[in-house]
Amino acid sequence: MARELNFFDEQDGRVSVLLPFALKGVLDYRFSGERPEPGRFVRVPLAGRPVTGVVWENQGEENEVSSSKLKAIYEVLKVPSLTGEQRRFVEWVANYTISPPGNVLKMCMGSPEALKPLPTRMLYSKGRRAMDPARLTPARLQVLEAIDDGKLRTIKETAKKAGVSEAVVRGLIKLGLIEGVEQTRDRPYLAPDPNKKGPALTEEQKKAVADLKNVLGKGFQPLALEGVTGSGKTEVYFEAIAEILQQPDSQILVLLPEIALTNQWLDRFENRFGAPPVEWHSDLGKAERRRAWRAMASGKARLVVGARSALFLPFKKLKLVIVDEEHDSSFKQEEGVLYHARDMALVRAQIAECPIILSSATLSYETLANIERGRFGHVTLKHRYGGASLPDLSAIDMRTRAAPSGHWLSPDLVEALTATLGRGEQAMLFLNRRGYAPLTLCRTCGERMECPNCTAWMVEHRLRRYLMCHHCGHSVPIPKFCPECGHEDSLTVCGPGVERLEEEVANLFPSAKRLVMTSDTMTSPARAAEMVARIAAGEVDIIIGTQVITKGYHFPKLTLVGVIDADLGLKGGDLRAAERTYQQLEQVAGRAGREKLKGHVLVQTYMPDNPVMAALLAGDKEAFIREDMAERKTFNMPPYGRLASILVTGPDLRKVEALARELARRFPKHQGVSLFGPAQAPLARLHGRYRYRLLLKTGRKTHLQNLIRSWMKDVKTSGGLKVKVDIDPYSFL
Ligand code: ADP
Ligand code: ZN
Repeated sequence: MARELNFFDEQDGRVSVLLPFALKGVLDYRFSGERPEPGRFVRVPLAGRPVTGVVWENQGEENEVSSSKLKAIYEVLKVPSLTGEQRRFVEWVANYTISPPGNVLKMCMGSPEALKPLPTRMLYSKGRRAMDPARLTPARLQVLEAIDDGKLRTIKETAKKAGVSEAVVRGLIKLGLIEGVEQTRDRPYLAPDPNKKGPALTEEQKKAVADLKNVLGKGFQPLALEGVTGSGKTEVYFEAIAEILQQPDSQILVLLPEIALTNQWLDRFENRFGAPPVEWHSDLGKAERRRAWRAMASGKARLVVGARSALFLPFKKLKLVIVDEEHDSSFKQEEGVLYHARDMALVRAQIAECPIILSSATLSYETLANIERGRFGHVTLKHRYGGASLPDLSAIDMRTRAAPSGHWLSPDLVEALTATLGRGEQAMLFLNRRGYAPLTLCRTCGERMECPNCTAWMVEHRLRRYLMCHHCGHSVPIPKFCPECGHEDSLTVCGPGVERLEEEVANLFPSAKRLVMTSDTMTSPARAAEMVARIAAGEVDIIIGTQVITKGYHFPKLTLVGVIDADLGLKGGDLRAAERTYQQLEQVAGRAGREKLKGHVLVQTYMPDNPVMAALLAGDKEAFIREDMAERKTFNMPPYGRLASILVTGPDLRKVEALARELARRFPKHQGVSLFGPAQAPLARLHGRYRYRLLLKTGRKTHLQNLIRSWMKDVKTSGGLKVKVDIDPYSFL
C-alpha cells in the first residue's frame, strides 16, 4: 500500500502494532497527531493493561474492527526505533521456526529498562556567572578553586573535593556560580582502538587474514575459519574485527557458545583493542542490560560479545558477525522459540548484507556441507601457534585394562597422572556426568530412585546432600530409608559422576590440588573466571570436569587430558551422536600441550574399534567425517535432508497418545516427505507431562514450514495438550 495515499485513506489514524506476546499477528490501534513510523516503540492498552509494542508494517490483512472502535495508543516512546533490518529479522525467525512473531519480538526487548526513560543525575561545574571574590566566604572560595579544572561532578563529589559541606555547594548553585547539567547515569562504553598493534602473525595466520579481508566489505559472505586447536583463530578474526572497526560507526557481533568461557576472551579482546567489549548474557544486571541495549540501539557501542540472545540486540549498523565454536550445540535454544543461533546469525548477516565468520576446530556438518556446496568460503589453519605440536592420542582399552571394581581410573591413566604431577604439570579429567553418581538404588529391594515428574533417575549430589533430577531440577534430601521397602541405610550408588571421580583422585593423590568444574560449581561468570585464574596461576594440579571444560580454554601448563568414559556420548544413538562425540573429544584433547610442553591424551574406551574412536586415535579426522557425512547423505539426513520434530505433551497419557495419532492420520501425504512415529519419547515424561514424538523428514527443496503450517492448521488442542514444532531439531529425547 502506498504510504502517500494514507492521508485520504480511511485507514488514516490506524496503525499496526506488534506486541511481545504469542498472538497471531499485529493488532491495530488508533493514533492522533503525527503517524508513528514503523519501528517506533509504543505503549498501548491490551485487555485493559498498558503494554509495550512496536509499530509494524501493515500486514495487508483485512481488518474488521472499524476505526471508531479501535483503542488509542497511549504514548510513543522516546527510545531508538527497531530498524527495518531487525523487523525483517523478527519476521524471518518467526516464519522459519513457526513461532508467533510476538515471541520473537520479545527477544528483541531483552531489557525492559531500556524502554523506560533513562535515569539521570545532575553534574556540576563552574557557572557562567562571576562574583567579586571579596564577597565570598573562604569555604565558597575553596569550592570554586576545587572545580577550576572544569570537570563535571555530583554535589557530593564537589563537596568532597573541596573539603566543605554539601550545603556550601548548594549555596553556590543558587547563586549561579556553579551550574548543573543533566546526564544519564549510564556511562558510555570506551571505544575499541583498531589501530592498536596486534601480535606479529605467522605466515599461515597472515594468509588466513588476507583471505578473510578479501571478502570483508563485499556484502553478505559466509566464511568458515577452520583451524586446529591453538592455531590462533581468535588472533586471526581479531584482525577482521580491526578492519571493520575502521569503518565509522560500524558494529560487530561476536557469538560465543557459553558465557562461562568468555573471561579469557574478554581479557584478550581488551589487550588487543584497549577497551573491553560490550557483554550480553543472562547474568547481566538490569542496569547493565539497559546500558548495553541502549548503547547498541544508539550506535554508540561498537562490539558486543554474547551468548545466543545477543543476536536480537538492536544493532544500528551491523557490519560483521562472528560465531566462535560454531559447532557447539548450545547455540540451539531448546526453550521458547526453538532456534539455532548459528543459523539465525547467518540470516541476520544476510539481512544486514555483511560478512559472517564461523570459527571452529571441528566445523559442524552443516557448515561443511555449505562449503561443499560452494556457499561458504573456507579458510584453514593447520598448525598450532608457536611450534606447539598437537597432542598424542592413545586409547586405553577398558576391556583388558579396566580399573579395579568401584574405581574409574585405569592403572595406565593413574600412571600417566603420577608422571604428570611429578613433572609439576597439570592434568585434566573429563567425564560428562554431573554429581556423584548417576543412579541410586536400594540394596535390599532393588528399587531405583526415579524422579516423580520425569522418566529419569535421580542423580546423587553428595556435596549438596541431595538427589536431583537433571531434567526438571526436582531435588530431595538423600533418604536414610528406602522409600520402597523402608530399609535403613540400604541405598547404594552405581556409576561415576565428577564428584565421585574427584573422591577417587583425592584418595590416589591426596596432596594434589583438585578443582571440579561443572555447571554446578561454575555458578556465575565471576566464579568461572576465578577458577580459570586459579588454574592459570598454577594453583590447581588436577581439573575434573564435564563438557564445560572442553571449550576454548588455554592453560599453558596443562599437558595431560584423560577422558574417563569416551563412549558415553555414543550411547544416546541419535543422529548427531558420532559427530558430537567426535567434536567433544577433539575439543577436550585440544586443551593439552598448547604451548611448549608436549600434550598427551588418554582415552578410556570399551569400544576402541568404533569408527569415532578409531578415527580420533588415528588422527584421521577427514576420513571419518567424510564417511559419516556420506551416511547422512545416503539416508537423506541433515545437512542433506531436513528434519522437523513434533512433540506432543500433556498431563494425560492417553490424550497425548490420541493427539499424536490424530496428527499422524491427518498428515497429508507428499512425495519425498516421510513421517516417523508417533512414538513415546525416550524421555517419556518430563515435568509431569507425558511426551510423544513424531519426526518429519523432507528433501532440501520441500518447503517444510508451509507443509507443517497447513498440516497443523486445524489441529485443536485442549485439556492442557501442547504441540511443539522444532525445525532442525538437535534434541531427540
Ligand atoms: P584457537 O582459537 O585457534 O584455539 P588462539 O587464538 O586461542 O587459538 O591461540 C592460541 C594461543 O596462542 C593463545 O594464547 C594466543 O594468544 C596465542 N597466539 C596465537 N597466535 C599468536 C600470535 N601470532 N602471536 C602471539 N600469540 C599468539
Ligand atoms: Zn524430573
